[in-house]
Amino acid sequence: MNNYPLIQARALAKKYDYTLFENIDITLWSKQSMAVMGRSGSGKSTLLHILSSFLEPDSGEVELLGKNIAKLKESELLELRRKHIGIIFQSHYLFKGMTALENIKAASYLAQTEVDYELLKRLEIDDIIHKKVGQLSGGQQQRVSIARVLTKKPKIVFADEPTGNLDKITANLVMDILNEYIKEHSGALFLVTHDLEIAKKAQKIYLLEDGKLHIV
Ligand code: ADP
Ligand code: MG
Repeated sequence: MNNYPLIQARALAKKYDYTLFENIDITLWSKQSMAVMGRSGSGKSTLLHILSSFLEPDSGEVELLGKNIAKLKESELLELRRKHIGIIFQSHYLFKGMTALENIKAASYLAQTEVDYELLKRLEIDDIIHKKVGQLSGGQQQRVSIARVLTKKPKIVFADEPTGNLDKITANLVMDILNEYIKEHSGALFLVTHDLEIAKKAQKIYLLEDGKLHIV
């Protein structure tokens, strides 16, 4: 097995006009999950964007799958993102004019994976996959977008308020599915949420407060 964590961050710092956070260290091994909580504006999404390679920190470094992302060539970084990183946002980037299944198939085609119909059933969207995305409720669209991300079979799943549009029961279902996913695929889950009940579904809970990350 891998002898490196899937996510390793050292001494991350980011400031805008003021210091947003500093000295943030994160280690996440395969089959591990962590949740970051914190008030709106505390920097949770910024931290997620840095860890997922879409934003550069002011200082500190991020290694994903044992690779320092700042030292990768552009093509290597694109490959890492395409194959190994899955990001679930609250606002779902789906093609509205296509059906749910066409959206999911587009992801499976790009990642050269198979559509996992069992997963669609687990997400309780198997009966709506032939509808156009624009005709689905926010919660259904959210689950289609989760299915689309997991269809890629990424090693690292980043989720920014993934259950924001969902009722409690469905939110818990989605968390169970994410946890099963990382166990089955030896992946890791980095979750941002303001919902304590959802955060408790991760193995470790952290609080981002006053620019520091504390374990809860
Ligand atoms: P959270 O996800 O915890 O609500 P964010 O990471 O989205 O917080 O934002 C943290 C703070 O950083 C906010 O005050 C936001 O206005 C500020 N911020 C985020 N992105 C930028 C940017 N590109 N330029 C300037 N300020 C930003
Ligand atoms: Mg945010």
